[in-house]
Amino acid sequence: QDERAPILEIHDVAVHFGGVKAVDGVSMTLHEGLIYGIIGANGSGKSTLFGAISRLVPLVSGTMMLDGTRFDRNPPHRVPHLGVARSFQTVRLLDDRTVRDNIRLGHDAVGSVPRREIEQRVEHVLTRLALHDVARRYPSELSYGIQRRVEIARAIVTRPRLLLLDEPTAGMNRHERDEVSELMLSLKGEGLTQFIVEHDVQMMVDTCDYIFAMNTGQLIAEGSPADVIADKRVRESYLGG
Ligand code: ADP
Ligand code: MG
Repeated sequence: QDERAPILEIHDVAVHFGGVKAVDGVSMTLHEGLIYGIIGANGSGKSTLFGAISRLVPLVSGTMMLDGTRFDRNPPHRVPHLGVARSFQTVRLLDDRTVRDNIRLGHDAVGSVPRREIEQRVEHVLTRLALHDVARRYPSELSYGIQRRVEIARAIVTRPRLLLLDEPTAGMNRHERDEVSELMLSLKGEGLTQFIVEHDVQMMVDTCDYIFAMNTGQLIAEGSPADVIADKRVRESYLGG
């Protein structure tokens, strides 16, 4: 991965909630065009790290750079303009808006794209995620797995350079999970850098180029999926020995 340019560089980042060191001195580098994963037990700080990258939680210390430019003081509404999009661990769709509107709203965050172009992008994403049949439905009418797919659609409609996915397949069946894996690999084919939190270890092994393992706010291992899964500390803290 070394010949690829770094897209995201995180240096010694810490996030505290009261006395809880949710992220405790994490450093990592993500290179362009690869799929990165984070594994770790519940409460190990994975979502908080995504919150830090999205600028939704303040850093106690550390620096973060995107394409070589510091962004750790940026307000959250500036982050989509930098080409970073994300999905959340829990579904966050507007229940009084159709699927199509929810996806289009993803675009409000980035602005300055002509309306025609936005409509084309929405159509493209609806097709790509096989959501055309439900485009006029409301989120509450849909299965949880489909709602999650709408969330991913809402994130990628902005054509980000870096996509953060926080447990995108939670609540999905095997078939739906495989579809997310396929989508990720196809987005990788277009050069999109992806960073995913996921508990489905097999899916991580199948899709990720590189994995980070966290425990109690700290990185305990990183490397190829095979190496990280085999790591003694990862097995003890996460995989059950
Ligand atoms: P993970 O995503 O790995 O399950 P989180 O990042 O959600 O872990 O949580 C890391 C730690 O930070 C946990 O101890 C959690 O209880 C705490 N935490 C997360 N978000 C908040 C918050 N908004 N306020 C207080 N504590 C939080
Ligand atoms: Mg989480």
